[in-house]
Amino acid sequence: MIAPALLAWHHTHGRHDLPWQRDVTPYRVWVSEVMLQQTQVQTVIPYFERFMQRFPDVAALASAPADEVLHLWSGLGYYSRARNLQRSAQQILSEHGGQLPSDQAALCALPGIGRSTAAAILAVSRGLRHAILDGNVKRVLARVHAVAGSPSERAIEQQLWQIAEQETPDTDVARYTQAIMDLGATVCTRARPLCSVCPLQADCRAHRECRVAELPTPRARSARRVRRVLMLLARRPDGHVLLQRRAEQGIWGGLWSPPEFSDRAAARRFADATLRVPRLHRRALPAVQHAFTHFELTITPLVADCDGFAGVMDQGAAVWYNPAQPARIGLPAPIQKLLQQLADLPGAS
Ligand code: SF4
Repeated sequence: MIAPALLAWHHTHGRHDLPWQRDVTPYRVWVSEVMLQQTQVQTVIPYFERFMQRFPDVAALASAPADEVLHLWSGLGYYSRARNLQRSAQQILSEHGGQLPSDQAALCALPGIGRSTAAAILAVSRGLRHAILDGNVKRVLARVHAVAGSPSERAIEQQLWQIAEQETPDTDVARYTQAIMDLGATVCTRARPLCSVCPLQADCRAHRECRVAELPTPRARSARRVRRVLMLLARRPDGHVLLQRRAEQGIWGGLWSPPEFSDRAAARRFADATLRVPRLHRRALPAVQHAFTHFELTITPLVADCDGFAGVMDQGAAVWYNPAQPARIGLPAPIQKLLQQLADLPGAS
């Protein structure tokens, strides 16, 4: 059992002052757990604090405009997390009286809440005995028990779930859960784990057998695809930039970006049909690159100075965005970067 050593370590070395560790409620733990998926603690802290200030409870999140939710998520990435949070909040309001259910199956029925997130909510906020298995915990358990094989394979994941169930203590579950997450984030890190100060060193098979560097077994990676798109940065003399709401499906669903095209000819046709007096500058700005989980995106910007719309555009799907007084809408980080580069670029007039 690793719990006694972990709990003793956590008492003196664990993190006790994170914002979601204050005023612990199922709602706050839920939001923090979702934000922490794929994202470092230090990055999450300011996002969590802004989010809680604006949406202090389920009802506030459920009734907010979707743009506002995505705005407060802008830069965190993996935006389906934000959309699912709001959908879940609406479902919690209509089906559970505004309270997060205390039953794991009911939590897992909500959009975006998987087995481990549900378990973390119940263990940390209610002290109920549920095993968690997020990325950090998988790494710790795979090393301590020397489990070979990629945790992304179903059979290996099942094995790790069994170990996680066995290791979870009957008492002090909330602290144990926090402790094993902390150990994975701060000591048993992916690269350069700090075995010499680890409280589990004596129990750890990977350490004993000098296999720390090879465990957990990495997933077999296929070559990353590269996707190239072109974005038309249309700006008016007052500096406002044309943005469109992106389709719900696909990358950055529901967020805003400059109109996107697969080639220059399509961008040219759009400019001629939609903008008044467009003057295109082809190499005014450098390309922007962004890595997604499964592919690399390269955005080539095409700057178009213009006088505004030539025709009528759907007002719900397009805005003239004023960088000096930004609207509260969701903007992916690479788009924020593009808009910043554009703002630094002198106008044509
Ligand atoms: S001894 Fe090293 S590999 Fe084992 S759990 Fe601790 S930090 Fe991780």
